[in-house]
Amino acid sequence: MQRVFIIGGGLAGSEAALQLAERGIKVSLYEQRPVYKTPVHKTGNFAELVCSNSLKSTEDTNAHGLLKKELSILGSILLDIAEKNRISYGKSLVVDREGFSRDITLNINMHPMIDVIRERIDDIPRDVPLLISSGPLTDGKLAQNIKELVGSDFLHFYDAISPIVDADSLNMDILYFKDRHNIDNDAYLNAPMTEKEYERFYKFIVNAESFKGHEFDKVPYFEGCLPIEEMAKRGYLTLVYGPLSPKGLEHPETGKRPFAVVQLRAENKEKTMYSLVGFQTRLKRKEQEKLIRLIPGLSDAKILRYGQIHRNTFINAPSVLTRFLNLKKHPNIFFAGQLSGTEGYVEAIMGGLISAINIYRLLKGKDLIPVPENTMSGALLSYISNSNLKSFQPMNANMGLLSNIPKGIKGMKRRIYKKERAIKEITEWKNRVL
Ligand SMILES: Cc1cc2nc3c(=O)[nH]c(=O)nc-3n(C[C@H](O)[C@H](O)[C@H](O)COP(=O)(O)OP(=O)(O)OC[C@H]3O[C@@H](n4cnc5c(N)ncnc54)[C@H](O)[C@@H]3O)c2cc1C
Repeated sequence: MQRVFIIGGGLAGSEAALQLAERGIKVSLYEQRPVYKTPVHKTGNFAELVCSNSLKSTEDTNAHGLLKKELSILGSILLDIAEKNRISYGKSLVVDREGFSRDITLNINMHPMIDVIRERIDDIPRDVPLLISSGPLTDGKLAQNIKELVGSDFLHFYDAISPIVDADSLNMDILYFKDRHNIDNDAYLNAPMTEKEYERFYKFIVNAESFKGHEFDKVPYFEGCLPIEEMAKRGYLTLVYGPLSPKGLEHPETGKRPFAVVQLRAENKEKTMYSLVGFQTRLKRKEQEKLIRLIPGLSDAKILRYGQIHRNTFINAPSVLTRFLNLKKHPNIFFAGQLSGTEGYVEAIMGGLISAINIYRLLKGKDLIPVPENTMSGALLSYISNSNLKSFQPMNANMGLLSNIPKGIKGMKRRIYKKERAIKEITEWKNRVL
């Protein structure tokens, strides 16, 4: 019986393992946790969400919504499990993080075609069908061996994550529930700030102490995940027009719009934990405590998880990967997830799903068929395998990746055109490959 080896049971590896197993392929899934821990994972569960519990927009005229639509057309198993663990019915797919990874773990553990091996892998077998999906924190000997496998095109940079606070420690006389889109008003708690309060907060944040070290001095941050203190340093009002925007967040009792608003999002179904939206940070722990306590309603906040700095490791995909996600030099070795140069949870799930379809076709002696470039999945795969080698940075789903629009189609019509074309083409592709 044919067997595929997978290193890493994160979002990409779990989706790939389940997809292959469902197609009757034996899978050996190697996962280092819980024996060996990473700096961000907390459990031994598969597909643990390491930061936010939001899988982003569900609107299919939005890039992440469209990507999810495509994945559900292709039968993504992880997205299906995400829907079952959904805790908010607003415009985003926000999940109960524990339920989500627990259900995936159950599915994997109980699958007769998957052998789970809880081991940290150092060496890369070169002559078997293999998927490397060891994620952005890949380190040690495995990292060295990947470097050897792909050549020197092995890169890394740093990401920052948001703190989580205990719901019981929040002052509910000051905070209020409201969704700025008025759809799911129970999903977000809001901490309103007057201009004076914002000024105090701003002065503190721009002067607060961060983790230092010469590596960090050269951090080329990913623009979509800038630490809040870096964003603040761009100007007095940058945060007010960014993560602290009060737009749509008028106080339900007074009807007045605060000067700025810090939003908190529930981390679990029970709403016992809240994360601070957009507060990814590399401030020192003590400084984080002081900063959070300057926010109205959070003066006694108990911090359950601090914002942190993390390495984000990825290969220089354009020089080594094909758009099928396998190595140009070793067609039996595939990469998926953050390590392959995509950025984001749903993007990692996409990589797991597409690599599984391609591995399956390879094993069955069938041609590999590229995912059409007019789909969000295909556009991302095309980007990571074809973009500029020298300045390559991981990419997330975005509408800008979809081009070739007839002249004269503008605004929302343009989005609708992109969406309809993508859905049509992914459906046609599915009918050819599945
Ligand atoms: C700190 C941080 C915060 C992030 N926050 C977000 C966010 O809020 N939203 C978002 O969309 N994206 C976020 N990302 C980016 C990305 O979406 C996630 O990292 C996502 O989990 C990537 O999925 P993956 O499958 O590539 O890797 P992972 O989910 O990390 O899975 C990799 C797996 O491989 C295992 N592994 C590693 N090395 C070995 C080995 N040698 N042997 C065996 N097993 C091994 C690990 O234990 C892990 O389980 C974040 C990334 C980081 C680093």
